[in-house]
Amino acid sequence: KQRFPNEPEYIQAVSQVLGTIEEEYNRHPEFDRANLIERLCIPDRIISFRVTWVDDKGNVQTNMGYRVQHNNAIGPYKGGIRFHASVNPSILKFLAFEQTFKNSLTTLPMGGAKGGSDFSPRGKSNAEVMRFCQAFMNELFRHIGPDEDVPAGDIGVGGREVGYMFGQYKKLTHTFVGVLTGKGQEFGGSLIRPEATGYGNVYFLENMLKTRSIDLKGKRVLVSGSGNVAQYTVEKLILLGAVPVTLSDSDGYIYDPDGIDAEKLAYVKELKNVERGRIREYAEEYGVKYVAGARPWGEKADIALPSATQNEIDGDDARTLVANGVFAVSEGANMPSTPEAIKVFQEAGLLYAPGKAANAGGVAVSGLEMSQNSERLRWSSEEVDAKLHSIMNEIHADCVKYGTQTDGYVNYVRGANVAGFLKVAKAMMAQGIV
Ligand code: NDP
Repeated sequence: KQRFPNEPEYIQAVSQVLGTIEEEYNRHPEFDRANLIERLCIPDRIISFRVTWVDDKGNVQTNMGYRVQHNNAIGPYKGGIRFHASVNPSILKFLAFEQTFKNSLTTLPMGGAKGGSDFSPRGKSNAEVMRFCQAFMNELFRHIGPDEDVPAGDIGVGGREVGYMFGQYKKLTHTFVGVLTGKGQEFGGSLIRPEATGYGNVYFLENMLKTRSIDLKGKRVLVSGSGNVAQYTVEKLILLGAVPVTLSDSDGYIYDPDGIDAEKLAYVKELKNVERGRIREYAEEYGVKYVAGARPWGEKADIALPSATQNEIDGDDARTLVANGVFAVSEGANMPSTPEAIKVFQEAGLLYAPGKAANAGGVAVSGLEMSQNSERLRWSSEEVDAKLHSIMNEIHADCVKYGTQTDGYVNYVRGANVAGFLKVAKAMMAQGIV
């Protein structure tokens, strides 16, 4: 806290992990002798650069670009790129730190990283987004590579942006390699990658429900966000007979009491991915409630799947969710619940899964995309989906193994942190002081 006083999100993420691994850490005095905590919490390096590009009016614009390479003890650095006005070093450091443990949980050989820019694609033309992505890659390409650091998408970075960045990397390096994941299907992208985070979260949720013999069918679900993760969360919920009733964006949320069905979801995909419109338009299209400037946590439901951004559920929201009868919360977004909210969920005995476990499906399939690119092969949807499903089952089993308390309650936060930490820690110990 003294070293990084202006980085609240990073301190929040680190404190949460350290608070849950202490008991396990104390069983390994060799970790302490190797000063493992500081070596694990402080990123290997942070690259920061200026991005200069020209908008449609001919004005020269500048943004900040970053890549936080957190830890590569178990594999090449791996983690998404975020384009959003709020991006700063604290947010990227928290995300890269979390990514290190998440990637460890996936069972695949990937280290942790995160990057991005304070550039916001909102309201920009396709040509402006392309010029920005090219300018961003003009600097980033020096620091990444298929065996070094493999970025992917995140908030504000979807298939379009990954495509533009990949094109520029190829141009600059004269290589066609798997340097980014989330690529288009035509040039090395894996089937099921767009679906993976949302589908994976629902697979994880099903595992949690199974521990209490609860069926997902017919359950009413609050989903926040309306981007990549939210859309495919809703898709899988519909396929499994659950009833998603909300979606949101940074302006407000919609509540559809009849449930968002496949046809309405197709409308949302067109609205958000092609027209780049606002979720308010859903309410106009289907004549349902829209609440401006609010999040959906006050609506009555059984389950909540936050899928927008960090700290979107605070202590009051959590108390409202519990009072309204929500019995399971599984995080599609990264760190959407504040520490106070997590405390409320756990004290109320809810099934509560942190993002680093529940949303690991996205990076897991990114890992599978890397494997396919290295093999120069392409696997079928069924094959990738089956692998995703079994990885989510394994992550759940690890959480239960390391997180079950003496009273039988599964503390998924502790389980995920201890399982993720042990693997990285052992790899660091084996590789010496570097
Ligand atoms: P998208 O950019 O596709 O969608 C983000 C959604 O969240 C949009 O609806 C956006 O609204 C909303 N949102 C973003 N910032 C805010 C904010 N400050 N307040 C309220 N709403 C906001 O991103 P993704 O769906 O990819 O990412 C969502 C979350 O999931 C993030 O936390 C991300 O880190 C996490 N995640 C994503 C993975 C992936 O594979 N994509 C993998 C693992 C985690 P608007 O349109 O108004 O900006």
